[in-house]
Amino acid sequence: AEEIEKPHVAFLPSPGMGHITPLFEFARRLVIHHDFHVSFFVITTDASAAQNELFRSENLPSGFHAVEIPPVENISSFFTEDMRVVTRLAIMVRESLKHLPSLLMKQQRPIEALIIDLFCTDAYEICQKLSIPVYSFFTASTILMAFSLYLPTLDREVDGEFVDLPEPIQTPGCNPICPHDILDQVKDRKNDEYKWYLLHVSRLPLAAGIFVNSWDDLEPVSLKALKENLFFQNIPIPPVHAIGPLIKQDEVVTEKGAEILAWLDDQPPESVLFVVFGSGGTLTSEQLTELAWGLEMSQQRFILVARKPSDASASAAFFNVGSDENNPLIYLPEGFVKKTEGRGLVVPSWAPQAAILNHPSTGAFLSHCGWNSTLESVIHGVPMIAWPLYAEQRMNATVLAEEVGVAVKFPVVPGEPLICRKEIEKMVRNVMEGEKGKAMRRRGKELKESAKIALNSGGSSYESLCSVVQFWKSK
Ligand code: UDP
Repeated sequence: AEEIEKPHVAFLPSPGMGHITPLFEFARRLVIHHDFHVSFFVITTDASAAQNELFRSENLPSGFHAVEIPPVENISSFFTEDMRVVTRLAIMVRESLKHLPSLLMKQQRPIEALIIDLFCTDAYEICQKLSIPVYSFFTASTILMAFSLYLPTLDREVDGEFVDLPEPIQTPGCNPICPHDILDQVKDRKNDEYKWYLLHVSRLPLAAGIFVNSWDDLEPVSLKALKENLFFQNIPIPPVHAIGPLIKQDEVVTEKGAEILAWLDDQPPESVLFVVFGSGGTLTSEQLTELAWGLEMSQQRFILVARKPSDASASAAFFNVGSDENNPLIYLPEGFVKKTEGRGLVVPSWAPQAAILNHPSTGAFLSHCGWNSTLESVIHGVPMIAWPLYAEQRMNATVLAEEVGVAVKFPVVPGEPLICRKEIEKMVRNVMEGEKGKAMRRRGKELKESAKIALNSGGSSYESLCSVVQFWKSK
């Protein structure tokens, strides 16, 4: 009977750990700190072992209920070879959400709010009919959210490609964005991927409120622009609640993961570089070879999460992490594993990232700068070598390097897409042993402290969430 009294909130993430993790953390907080009942809708895919692991785990708190949305039958028949990642994701979500009305109606108790992420905006129409308020949780950076809110305006006002604009793009109230850095999805306006992205972001203003996974010290400029609606008179912006950094907690570490952590236990403090490109990042074979030899030449300790290279797409692993046969010896350069044995650890496909970043032996993170990876690095005070690959990662890398001071970027050489081994060696040494690394580590520790304060009782993120929680409870 007591359980019936609890306020009930539902969550709806898109597939992919980058979307699921922050919504899961948000849900967990509602259950644990605020005594909510949560229904967590999960779009089932067989692509992600990590996703399935999360919801199978015995650690789900009581009050948290995972609700599976049945898999779309024959999903591959919707896809064509040349479809890009956001198009695939949007189609998969669209098809899955056909089950949403019946699943919502089946819920025994009223739902105070449905919290969705970016690609689930078909939920607005569905929920309107059911009188359920919909909130958005924007799981990427605030700078991307600001840019995205501005995108429909840009779309109306700019002819041609944004990436060809001669001047930086001035999102109102925010720092200018170099056209080269804008997210991939808006670099080719004729591609379906752009249309899908535009469609979903143009519905952001329909939200009853938007949660962002950030806090004032990490993105002061963009957050101020959004919260105070500084320059957006013509663009309706729902109330913005910065509730981050919400990152994965109590990660379930597999046996393989435990071996990695045990290896770390034996390394000196802050001596290991952790290398992984998110859940989908993939290098070309030529680039992977350069990276491998660059790591070898740097003579530093490292953990490299290895993925089969792809010359076709920088996010090739996105839909098949864990489902692929993965033997790094086949595609890493010959002799590399042998030569770095003891100093370097090569891990196929997936490693317990949050636990590794939290380990005292980890000294730096070579990362694609996905937003979750960024937050995990920042919360543990680990400096980053930015290696953006896809989506909005170039924008994130620029914010981290130029505004926040916790990352370094490789210099962009026009017409040269490859980062060569010499360059990698130099960068790795500089961050692991040089002055740059020291300065970033100091800044990292400050931010780590600031994140802790924001999330604790009385802190900005904690209080932002409390105000919405009070509102839901009062209904
Ligand atoms: N991750 C992990 N192990 C890996 C690779 C990724 O645990 O080997 C997790 C990482 O901790 C993060 C998420 O996957 O929580 C990646 O999210 P992010 O937003 O950084 O990038 P995306 O995968 O969406 O590009």
